[in-house]
Amino acid sequence: MPVSAAATSATTDSAADAAVCAPLPVLGRDVLVPLVTGGEVEYAALDIAASAPALQRVWDDVAAYAPYYGSVHRGAGYLSQLSTDLFESSRAEVARFLGCGEGDQVVFTRSTTDSLNLLAAALPADTRVFVFETEHHASLLPWEQRADVEVTYLDAPRTPGQAVETLERALAEREPYANALVCVTGASNVTGELWPVRELAAAAHAHGARIVLDAAQLAPHHPVDIAELDVDWVAFSGHKLYAPFGAGVLAGRADWLQAAEPYLAGGGASRTVARRADGGVDVDWHTTAARHEAGSPNVIGVYAIAAACKALTEAGFEGLVAREQQLVERVRAGLAEVPEVTVLSLFGDDAPRVGVLSFVVEGWNSSHFAAALSAEYGIGVRDGLFCAHPLVRTLLGAESQAPGECGAPEGAPGEQSLNAIRVSFGAGT
Ligand code: PLP
Repeated sequence: MPVSAAATSATTDSAADAAVCAPLPVLGRDVLVPLVTGGEVEYAALDIAASAPALQRVWDDVAAYAPYYGSVHRGAGYLSQLSTDLFESSRAEVARFLGCGEGDQVVFTRSTTDSLNLLAAALPADTRVFVFETEHHASLLPWEQRADVEVTYLDAPRTPGQAVETLERALAEREPYANALVCVTGASNVTGELWPVRELAAAAHAHGARIVLDAAQLAPHHPVDIAELDVDWVAFSGHKLYAPFGAGVLAGRADWLQAAEPYLAGGGASRTVARRADGGVDVDWHTTAARHEAGSPNVIGVYAIAAACKALTEAGFEGLVAREQQLVERVRAGLAEVPEVTVLSLFGDDAPRVGVLSFVVEGWNSSHFAAALSAEYGIGVRDGLFCAHPLVRTLLGAESQAPGECGAPEGAPGEQSLNAIRVSFGAGT
C-alpha cells in the first residue's frame, strides 16, 4: 500500500529542522499505527483540530496520579488532601498559562461549549451580544438560549481590518446599552486563520463592551495571554490541548460570574444550606469559581489540562509554531499542484494561520474523498461543515443557508458536495 507524501512528511524533516522544532511525543503512536494499518504503512493522524491525542507527558502525569485519585474539598484523608491540592494547583497552573490577573477566576468546565454556555447563562439581563456568523457553533449558538439577550450576527469579513470595522459599526449603531459582549474565535477551526483579537478587544472596550475569546483552536498553537490580548474571558477545551480527559476552562473576570445564579445547583457550589422557618431552604452560594463547579469535579481531566499547559510552556510555542507552519506550507505546496483543489480562506492565501487548513476538490464529494484518504492512504482527515455551517457555506459560495447535519455526507460519490475536507496538525504531528 502506498505511503502518501503527506503521511510521511511528519517524519522526514531534515535533522536541522527536527532539532529546532521536534514534535512533542504523543500517546499511542506505536499502538495506533499497527492497529490502523496492520503495521504496513505509516498512519497520518491529520484531524488534530477535532481532538488531539494526549501528550506522553500528560499521560505519564495522569497515570502517576490515578492510583491516588480521591474526592476534592471534602475529606481529611490523604487521598482527598492530595486530590484537593492537585486540583487547586492545576487551577493556579492554568491561570499562569493564560496570564490571568489578580481578580480573574479560572472555572473548570467540560469543554469550550460548556464554558461558553456557562458565560451565556451568567450574562446580566438585557446584555447585547455581537458575534460573527463565522464562529463555530459553540460560540455562535449559546447566546440565543437567553430570551432576555439580543444577539447581533455580523457578516463574514474578508480582511482582518474589515472584521474590526464591522464590529465597530455594529457596536456604535446599537449604543447605548448597559452591557454588551463580543464573542470571537482566536483561530478558525475551518480555515485556521488567525483573527485580530487584540484589535477586536480594543474596539469592544472602546464601546464599553466586553469580549470573550474562543481559544479552542488558538490555545494549542499559540500563547494566549488574557492581559496581553486584553480580553475579558478565554474559553478552551482540554481535549484539543492534548489533555483528552473531559475537562475545559473558562477564565477571566469574576464579577458577572459571581453575580450570576450557579450554572449547576448542588454540593460544592453552596457554602451553607439551611432550612428556613417557613419550611423553605436558604442557600449561601460560593462567590469563587466553585460557584459554577457543583458536583464532584473531574480532577483527572483538570490535572491533565495543567500537565499539558506545563508541557507546552516548557517546550515553548516558538518551535511548535515553526514546525506547524512547515507542515502547512508543505501541504499547501502539494495542493497547489492539483488544479482541482481550492483551499478555503476568508482573509486570503497569505493570511497567518495555525496548523488547520480546509479545501474542496472539484468534482468530488468531500466525504468520499476523506474516506478514500483513510482507506487507501492511511490519512485521517475531517470532512463536513465542521460545526460552522454559515462559515463553510459562505466560503463555498453556497446560496442556500439551510442547515445540514454537522459533518454529514452530502451528495453521491463523484458529485460536488456542499462540504469540505480539513487537515490539521498539532504538537505531536
Ligand atoms: N470553538 C472552536 C473554534 C472549535 O473548533 C470547537 C471544536 O471543534 C469548539 C469551539 C467546541 O469545542 P468542544 O467541542 O470541545 O466544546
